[in-house]
Amino acid sequence: MIFNKQGSLIKKFKFYFQNREIETTDQYTYLGFIFVPSGKKKVGIWNLLQKSKKAWFAIQKMLFKSKGKTVNSYIKLIDSIIKPITLYACESWGDSLKKGLFNDEIEKFHLSMCRQVLGVKRNTNSMKVLAELGRVPFKVEVETAMFKYLERYPFIGKDRLLYKAFAEEIKICETGGQSWISNIKEKLAKLGLSNLFINLSKVTTEEIEPKNYKQKHKFFRKRAIDIFIQQEFHSYLNKRKLLEKGIFEISKTLYEKEKYLSLSNCENRMALSKLRLSSHNLAIRQGKWYNIAEEKRFCYYCKDPKVETEIHFLFECPRYKKLRQEMSSAIKDFTFENKNETLALFFKNGSLKAMNEVGKFVRKAFYLREQDSKPSAVT
Ligand SMILES: [Zn+2]
Repeated sequence: MIFNKQGSLIKKFKFYFQNREIETTDQYTYLGFIFVPSGKKKVGIWNLLQKSKKAWFAIQKMLFKSKGKTVNSYIKLIDSIIKPITLYACESWGDSLKKGLFNDEIEKFHLSMCRQVLGVKRNTNSMKVLAELGRVPFKVEVETAMFKYLERYPFIGKDRLLYKAFAEEIKICETGGQSWISNIKEKLAKLGLSNLFINLSKVTTEEIEPKNYKQKHKFFRKRAIDIFIQQEFHSYLNKRKLLEKGIFEISKTLYEKEKYLSLSNCENRMALSKLRLSSHNLAIRQGKWYNIAEEKRFCYYCKDPKVETEIHFLFECPRYKKLRQEMSSAIKDFTFENKNETLALFFKNGSLKAMNEVGKFVRKAFYLREQDSKPSAVT
């Protein structure tokens, strides 16, 4: 393969090895990653994505009838089987991923897996989905892998090809050119970690003892996660709180996996996710799609017009009065005048048993509501 900027298949040169002509090609798989003449990584990344999707599909098929569909088992499978396929050789990707937090196909795939684990709709907000599970974007893993690769530089033998390639990359970067190194340098600057880059050359000149520069990628990852939570999650949450007052906005404070996600009953757990992440058909959310003013998104069951919020559905609507009894005794310790406060405290400190009861109520009440809204059969 002849690398060239246009990415075209150049056939005018002939190469021989032991008198045999070597075929020129527009695609070559080396160590499981597809390379193309333009040197761009997109084709290789796309191929990894297809492989990951197949593996994810196989896992879902395998677990379809299993009772062990807990969030933990899914997350373990994603992290140990899917992630290594999707992010294979990602240290070499450079800036191949699309800009923006959730724009890349890799991230969209990650989010779609998370949505399926939670059992929420495809259009459920990306930030809410990740925050509910306490997961960080794949981009953070890609950048950490890149830095981890760079971190090896001072420890490579100076006569090795890899060392020379690194040295060449640094030269390009120093003269203002775009390279793999300039990319990671920019990322370090964004995280306020430019020192790590400066110190790297000090290790090569032995101004800093090499042993003091090991395992810095752990620090890098932690900083990348902190910045993500601080800048992206908190600013999102602050903006969102002004716009919507769903259970997520009311109760989410810490960026970590929610306690109720440890429930072993998969259906009850998913019903809670649907309610918390506003992935439901209650009038308060549905009305938004039909441009109905918030104060007019009424519950169709209640005779006195009442806005059908999550709070109305959970605590007030007489339609579910009978179903509500068991749930009410489960959350009696958290019952305050202010229902928002009740929910926030319940999701933080409630027992799993009580959460299961609430999940059961939500599941059954959703079902009842769905039956009501179906057009009645003509007899
Ligand atoms: Zn009602």
